[in-house]
Amino acid sequence: MKKALTVGEALESVLRVAPALPPEDVPCLEAVGRILQEEVRADADYPPFDKSLMDGYAVIAADVAAAPRKLRVLEEIAAGSDPARLRPLQPACASRIMTGAPLPPASDAVLIVEDSEPVPGDPGAVLAKAAVRSGDNVARRGGDARRGEVLLSPGDLLGPAEIGVLAACGRTRARVGRRPSLAVLATGDELVEPDRSPSPGRIRNSNGPLLLALARQAGATVRDLGIVGDRREALGAAIERGLEGDILALSGGVSMGAYDLVGETLRSLGVEILFDRVAIKPGRPFTFGTRDRTLVFGCPGNPVSTYVIFQVFGRPAIRKMIGFADPSPAPVRGILRGAVRQRPGRTGYYQTRARLSEGGCVAEILPTSGSADFVSCARGNALAVVPAEVASMQSGDAIDILLLEDFADR
Ligand code: AMP
Ligand code: MG
Repeated sequence: MKKALTVGEALESVLRVAPALPPEDVPCLEAVGRILQEEVRADADYPPFDKSLMDGYAVIAADVAAAPRKLRVLEEIAAGSDPARLRPLQPACASRIMTGAPLPPASDAVLIVEDSEPVPGDPGAVLAKAAVRSGDNVARRGGDARRGEVLLSPGDLLGPAEIGVLAACGRTRARVGRRPSLAVLATGDELVEPDRSPSPGRIRNSNGPLLLALARQAGATVRDLGIVGDRREALGAAIERGLEGDILALSGGVSMGAYDLVGETLRSLGVEILFDRVAIKPGRPFTFGTRDRTLVFGCPGNPVSTYVIFQVFGRPAIRKMIGFADPSPAPVRGILRGAVRQRPGRTGYYQTRARLSEGGCVAEILPTSGSADFVSCARGNALAVVPAEVASMQSGDAIDILLLEDFADR
C-alpha cells in the first residue's frame, strides 16, 4: 500500500490523467452546460438595420428640438417591414413606428408614443409633446455586433444566453467537448436494489443512484451496472464491463476488510492503481486508477464518503473531460457558525448549509452521526473544508466553503 496523498496531490493526480475529450457537433439545446470548441462570428451586422427600440414616431430630431411641435404622419411602419420600401421622411413629418421596425430614410430618432398626442380634427397629424435628440430610442445597424466580429470563443461555457447568440447567427448546432460516459457499480454482499425490501442484515443500494445522479449533474452520460457481491469472479466480470467507458465509479470494497476485494480485482484486470489512500475525512480509502483511457474511481462504501469523494475528485475529472479549462473546485472564503473539532492529519469535509448574508458567506456545519449518515448530505448545500493540520475552529473563524452545484437553488 502506498502512502496517503494529500487532497491536493490526489486531485492533481486525477486531473493529470483525465483527458479533455474530442469535440462533437450537437444540436444547440444539447450544448447547454458544455464547453464550446470553435469560434463563432457574427454572420451579419446586428442589428442588421437601424431600428426602433420603442413604439412611437420616427422623426428628424432637428425638427423636434423644441416641443410642442406638430408633425405630419406619412405612414405606419410595422416590425418586419422592408427598409427599402419605406418613405423617406420630409421636414416636419413623422412615421408611426413599432418596436423592432426599421427606421425610414432621413429619420434619426424615435419619439415615444407616450410623448405624443393626437391633433383634434386632424387625423393626419401628431403633436410631439417632448423634445427629441438624434439617436433617441434607436438601435444603429451593427451597434450590438459587426459582421465578422468574434462573439463566442473556444473554451466558453454555453448557457442560455450563448444559445441565443448562436441562434441569432443562424446556428442550430454547436461544436462542443464530448461528455464522458460513466458506469456505476455498487459492490457489497449486503446490498439489494432500492425497489426491494432488504432481508435482515441487508440494506438498499443508495450509493449507486447517488453516484449516477452526481455524475449526471456534473455532465457525464451514465450507465447503471447495478450491484455485484463481494466475490472475485463476479466482481471481475462486472468491473470489466464498466471499463468499456470513459469512467468507472465503484462504491464499496476498498477498505481493509476481509471482503474488500475491489483493489486486488482492479489490479488483476490490469488497472494501474495511482493511489489507494488520501488524507481526507471522510473517504480515506479512496482508490483511483486507470486502464488505457478509462478512469476508475473506487469510492468507499459509506454514503457520506462516496458523496464527498465524488464531489471533490469525480466532478472535477468529469468537468476536465468536458473541456473546462479550470475544473478544480474553488472554495469561497466564509464565516463559520458553530464549532468544529477534528483529529489533525486529514483534510476534513463537513456537510454544511451555506447562505449569503451581508457580511459574506456564512457556513453552518450540520450535525451528523458519522460517515454513514446519508441524510446529512441531503440537508446540506455546501462542504466546509478544514485543513489537515487544524484541530479546531470556532464560531466566527474564516473557513473555506465549497459551494455545491445547487447552492443557488436552496
Ligand atoms: P465498504 O466500503 O464496502 O466497507 O462499506 C462501508 C459501509 O458502507 C458499509 O456499512 C456498507 O454496508 C455501506 N455501503 C456499501 N455500499 C453501499 C451502497 N451501495 N449503498 C449504501 N451503503 C453502502
Ligand atoms: Mg463492502
